[in-house]
Amino acid sequence: MELVWFRRDLRVDDNPALQAAIRSNQPVVALFIATPQQWQQHNMAPRQADLIFRRLSELQTDLSQLNITLLYKEVDTFDDAVDEVVGLCQQYAVTTVHANHEYELNEVNRDEQLQQRLGDQKTELQLYHDRCLTVPGSVLNKQGNYFKVFTPFKKALLAQWQPRPIVKVEACLANGDIEIKEPQWLSTSSPFGYPREDSQAWPVGTQAIRQRLRDFCQDTVEHYQQERDFPAKPSTSQLSAYLAIGALSPRQCVARLYANGDYLNEGGSTWLSELIWRDFYQHLIFFEPKLCKHKDFVEWAPHIRWDYSDDRLIQWQEGRTGYPIVDAAMRQLNQTGWMHNRLRMVVAGFFTKDLHLDWRLGERYFMSKLIDGDFAANNGGWQWCASTGCDGQPYFRIFNPISQGERFDAQGEFVRHWIPELKAVPNKFIHAPWLWSEFDSIDYPPPIVDHKVEREITLALYKEAKDF
Ligand SMILES: Cc1cc2nc3c(=O)[nH]c(=O)nc-3n(C[C@H](O)[C@H](O)[C@H](O)COP(=O)(O)OP(=O)(O)OC[C@H]3O[C@@H](n4cnc5c(N)ncnc54)[C@H](O)[C@@H]3O)c2cc1C
Repeated sequence: MELVWFRRDLRVDDNPALQAAIRSNQPVVALFIATPQQWQQHNMAPRQADLIFRRLSELQTDLSQLNITLLYKEVDTFDDAVDEVVGLCQQYAVTTVHANHEYELNEVNRDEQLQQRLGDQKTELQLYHDRCLTVPGSVLNKQGNYFKVFTPFKKALLAQWQPRPIVKVEACLANGDIEIKEPQWLSTSSPFGYPREDSQAWPVGTQAIRQRLRDFCQDTVEHYQQERDFPAKPSTSQLSAYLAIGALSPRQCVARLYANGDYLNEGGSTWLSELIWRDFYQHLIFFEPKLCKHKDFVEWAPHIRWDYSDDRLIQWQEGRTGYPIVDAAMRQLNQTGWMHNRLRMVVAGFFTKDLHLDWRLGERYFMSKLIDGDFAANNGGWQWCASTGCDGQPYFRIFNPISQGERFDAQGEFVRHWIPELKAVPNKFIHAPWLWSEFDSIDYPPPIVDHKVEREITLALYKEAKDF
């Protein structure tokens, strides 16, 4: 018998591990193991847990149409998950465990441990590359090293990579007589020992996810280049939550883009670049496991003297900094689990360069709230904003939260939506309401810091660290 262990690849389409198991012409069983304690250590957001929970029912349905049963187990940690897989392999005389690679350090260690344990009992572990457009480790510069700058990475990736059509998955014909006594994933009343928060805004049906991708490629991507930075407009795909749990693969995204011929236009090629940023950060953690230990990428960054003020951290988390664009974004995150990319950059910049807080605290908070929480993208994004990362923003480029608001939410539409207290503020003052003559009449805090002052402090702190 063949076992397919699903992790962050919760789909049947374009799933290399599943396809390989079916192609073996042996009976196939699928498995998902919840690891609540481990997820807690990784700060997984309850909203993402809910998305996974809901998606499992759909996965079960999709697998049953292929004649495959989905077993469900719940343990504490990755170590326990390894024990569980080893036990199942013995019980069902499994020949091969098929799974898709995960590149984060704990996940890599888990799979190495499994490889060793299965080797002792002559079961094979076959791992496949699935998470990215290209295999991490395969895009190298002329010296054979990994790229530390995005643009040449992208060029090299595009030069060596060919998009291919998505192959339709075949049903498993060999499953006739397997008898399964294990608990299966049954319904929304199945146990799931992790806190959950409503994720209904993200439909989880396979057709609905495909449709969202189709609609985006058909109606929106064309204008992506011009409109993607304006948070009041629904101009980005909002597919990140699905990519993060593998309900959708990046290859499916690109196949759809190419099928429509949209990669030829400016919007399509910019969107493709964003998907390649996703690859860039996944490749980076593959080469630099220190990132998974939350270490800075650049050597001088450990010398930055960060602040650890609880008050400031909480004001930022709760969207009470007095800077409307920052607060609106944080309220969007807290209430929906998602935040627009431009605003992720603004709030992370404000966190590190106006509040001088250690980026690791912000990274952790994002992870605990994001429905699309993805270690590599989140770590890469935070280190980019903190200027401690690989190809990060230069430290002296500091976003001004007022002008960012004026530029990307000129009419204050986004800000007023998330901060109704500001509804009466005229456009002229919407991003600096404390300057409005009637500011005292509204229930909104004055700015907790003065951007101009903090900017100078940041320049000094970074210079000091670089000169150390
Ligand atoms: C501080 C910070 C933290 C972030 N944390 C995460 C995270 O935990 N998970 C996550 O998926 N993205 C993260 N991002 C990247 C980006 O903000 C989101 O991927 C994007 O906003 C998701 O919206 P979308 O699906 O509409 O994106 P689109 O604009 O439609 O882009 C398509 C896809 O490309 C990928 N992508 C886009 N931008 C980036 C990027 N800069 N880096 C890596 N991948 C990208 C995503 O998978 C996204 O779904 C972070 C960015 C910053 C600045």
